[in-house]
Amino acid sequence: MSELKTAAPPPFRSLFVTDDTIAYLDGNSLGRLPRQAVVYLQKVIAEQWGKDLISGWNAHWLSMPARIGNKIGQLIGADAGETIVSDSTSVNLFKLAGALMRSTNGRKKIITDRANFPSDLYVLGGLARSTDEAIKFQSMDLDACDFESMSQRICDAIDEDTAFVSLSHVHYKSGFAYDIESITLAAHQHGARVLWDLSHSVGVLPMQLRAWNVDAAVGCTYKYLNGGPGAPAFLYLRSDLHSAVDNPIRGWFGAMNPFSFSVDYVPSPDIQRFLVGTPPILSLAAIEPGVDLVLQAGIEHLRERSMQLTSEFIALVTERLLPLGFTIQSPLDATMRGSHVSISHPNAWQITQDLIQRYSVIPDFRKPSTIRFGFAPIYTTRDELHRAIEAMESSIKSQSYRDFPSHIQGVT
Ligand SMILES: *Cc1c(COP(=O)(O)O)cnc(C)c1O
Repeated sequence: MSELKTAAPPPFRSLFVTDDTIAYLDGNSLGRLPRQAVVYLQKVIAEQWGKDLISGWNAHWLSMPARIGNKIGQLIGADAGETIVSDSTSVNLFKLAGALMRSTNGRKKIITDRANFPSDLYVLGGLARSTDEAIKFQSMDLDACDFESMSQRICDAIDEDTAFVSLSHVHYKSGFAYDIESITLAAHQHGARVLWDLSHSVGVLPMQLRAWNVDAAVGCTYKYLNGGPGAPAFLYLRSDLHSAVDNPIRGWFGAMNPFSFSVDYVPSPDIQRFLVGTPPILSLAAIEPGVDLVLQAGIEHLRERSMQLTSEFIALVTERLLPLGFTIQSPLDATMRGSHVSISHPNAWQITQDLIQRYSVIPDFRKPSTIRFGFAPIYTTRDELHRAIEAMESSIKSQSYRDFPSHIQGVT
């Protein structure tokens, strides 16, 4: 706990655009703007687009999805050439789930859990319906079970009919982190595959996808990677699967030679086959500075700091907020959670509005009564954490939250 005993902000904080009047604890939804992204984007716009025009594709842009993908690959323990940036997380999940589904030798079951991010459930459920009516989409309801037994419950559900398991590494609501390694191993023992969504863990949890032999993964770049609103997502596919599975969305950027304009589709032999259309270059450019900062800060160091922040927050909630009617919805064991903590209160919606509008403390709210606090270890300070605790204490004790409507609307 040495570093946190001082109140000094983390060393990388000054490399982000910050405003010390607000306590920003929503970096798990939208990360802060790296200062370098402003400089770099201006350069890409003014020099590359403005002057190079069409020649920018060969000079700068065609290589970006793979180059940035490889940097993200370092964060998740992938080998070079196994990670690429494209599309949204939902679309990437569809592409990889569709690819795995078609290569499973008749296996008929997809396993997920009901606490998964709704978009993932929609994509998987939609795929199960559209590919083959016989596919069973088993979304396990693990609400009633302890965090300690959740990974084991998934392992127990995998059988010889399972095509693949698709889960979020870290739950978007509770912050619970599955044991990727043991679930991947259990899936492989039954001849099934795994497809992980790393949206809430990339940039804060160390991972060794290659060493754990993970088949496939997707993830988001605008949360802890600070890539900007709607930044394109990434996908990982283990290299031995590249030529074995097919992208169900065939587009020219996934073809071996997009500029041959051949009418017959020949897929790229490598990870590029999971590209679809023209990459959004300005949004792609915005991702790279944030990823560079996370690489420089070091994922092990960020994980340690993240565990210190979430542990201190939970300790303060326990001491000061549980007596005021709050409950903790996240694992108490730091090794079993990501970098956000969820707490609940019957008046959570009003309290959230009070925090934002009166106290300039920014968490986010998830129905029906969850307030999520994200601790992005690369820039979040202890001062922000303490301000959140004090604001909640004051909101309840003074009942100032009652100034806000209880009717829930306009949630982001
Ligand atoms: C944020 C998030 C996404 C985002 O999906 P998009 O399609 O990029 O909007 C997907 N999955 C999980 C688990 C997330 O947390």
